[in-house]
Amino acid sequence: MAGLGGLRRFAEDFKEREKKMPVYFFGHGSPMNGIEDNEFSRGWRQVGQSTELPSAVLCISAHWLTQGTHITAMEAPRTIHDFGGFPKALYDIQYPAPGSPELAAEISKTIKSTKTGMDHEWGLDHGTWVVVKEMYPDALIPVLQLSIDYNKPAQYHYELARELATLRKRGVLIMGSGNMVHNLRMIGWDMPDRGFDWAEEINEVMKNKIISRDHKSLTDYGSLGSAAKLAIPTPDHYFPLIYTLGLQEQNEGTEFFNDKAVMGSVTMTSVKISS
Ligand code: ZN
Repeated sequence: MAGLGGLRRFAEDFKEREKKMPVYFFGHGSPMNGIEDNEFSRGWRQVGQSTELPSAVLCISAHWLTQGTHITAMEAPRTIHDFGGFPKALYDIQYPAPGSPELAAEISKTIKSTKTGMDHEWGLDHGTWVVVKEMYPDALIPVLQLSIDYNKPAQYHYELARELATLRKRGVLIMGSGNMVHNLRMIGWDMPDRGFDWAEEINEVMKNKIISRDHKSLTDYGSLGSAAKLAIPTPDHYFPLIYTLGLQEQNEGTEFFNDKAVMGSVTMTSVKISS
């Protein structure tokens, strides 16, 4: 438990800053990106090095789907190896970033539209640690996860994200982690470096909607046509993008990085939102 010293430190670490933190969406792709030195992991490292040091990271990962909304509230979140059939080296990875029960309580208070459950079971799933360990290899910055209430539609997540806006001024780096195009049933094993035509096409459509701030079409993604149905067979990897977009303010623009299709039916396209 945090004593008085811990609480004081919390107040100091999370005090209001001049400038709010950018918001990110990361395409995380295969867990193998967690041990490979490749263009994507290098892109994540670059983000860590070029972004003002956050007071904490709050990740909305495609891999934590729940009933209701929950936040990790433990002192020391475990590293979850939530995948099967990968090399031992990947299971050996531990990312021992601290949690922050104090920040979890603050976030729970910040979210007014629903009761946020304080979670002590989850930890950091691979949607989070694969990316964040490249950004902050020292594992000194507290990392929390907010779950996705999987019974709710995109518009609900968009509005919930807006409630998190004040955290950005307090140095919290909020990130969605999923994939804009993600269809594992249609993986093209013989095309590691490119996408099917439909995947490349819908990726461009989504990017153009992001650039033109057409969030309405992006939350109503069923209206984006047949390629979108292939890209988003289930919305788990898409909803984290909706959180990122929900946090975009009037005066903020978007930049893309790691913008590439892999294995036919997945895109790694990632977004930074900042002023
Ligand atoms: Zn994933």
